[in-house]
Amino acid sequence: MKKFAVDENCIACDACTIEAPGFFSMNEDEGCAFVSTQPKNKSEEELCNEALEACPVEAISFTEG
Ligand code: SF4
Repeated sequence: MKKFAVDENCIACDACTIEAPGFFSMNEDEGCAFVSTQPKNKSEEELCNEALEACPVEAISFTEG
């Protein structure tokens, strides 16, 4: 299963939190998104992939785990 992460390029646009709510959340204090829950099955992973694709600044990456 992929493990997702958000890096410092995040511009807090909320695209990922709208695309995959429950997996990506906004840290209002830091002004950037973070992965609140990692996907546990293929459909959850696909949702997170869609969030990755929706990110306008490519701040979301993943490692295969
Ligand atoms: S889509 Fe990208 S830039 Fe927008 S909040 Fe998520 S990680 Fe940040």
